Amino acid sequence: MKRIHTHPPERLERVWRRVLKFVYRNVQDLAFPPPALQTCEKIAQDRQTSGLTGRRSFMHAGHYPNTVCVWKGTRLADSFLVGILMHEIGHLATGADDVLADKYVFEMFGLPILYKGPLKLEWVDPKIIRQRRI
Ligand SMILES: [Zn+2]
Ligand SMILES: [Zn+2]
Repeated sequence: MKRIHTHPPERLERVWRRVLKFVYRNVQDLAFPPPALQTCEKIAQDRQTSGLTGRRSFMHAGHYPNTVCVWKGTRLADSFLVGILMHEIGHLATGADDVLADKYVFEMFGLPILYKGPLKLEWVDPKIIRQRRI
């Protein structure tokens, strides 16, 4: 498949840069190079064809090497964006298992990921986001 590079919206890029800074401030030698963030044509297609609104309809990892794919239309609050982005970084480090991904984030960064809202999306407490300067 041909790789289509598209830049995510500015707000997502900003939260992503904050997340990456947090990651590299806490762990100097990650097991993988700095991952990329890009919008994903597949998420948009899935949302159109199956009206997907669940967990995997905002971001995923493992589609392209060392890349987190995002849906460019997301308007989620920062606490969800941080939660999902960190969860996806957990996937890049550990593979496809959701529980392992969150476990990695907690063990490496001391960051608890909870599941909130009607869609039960990954969420990090805004207090922790402030305390940890994410
Ligand atoms: Zn993708
Ligand atoms: Zn997952």
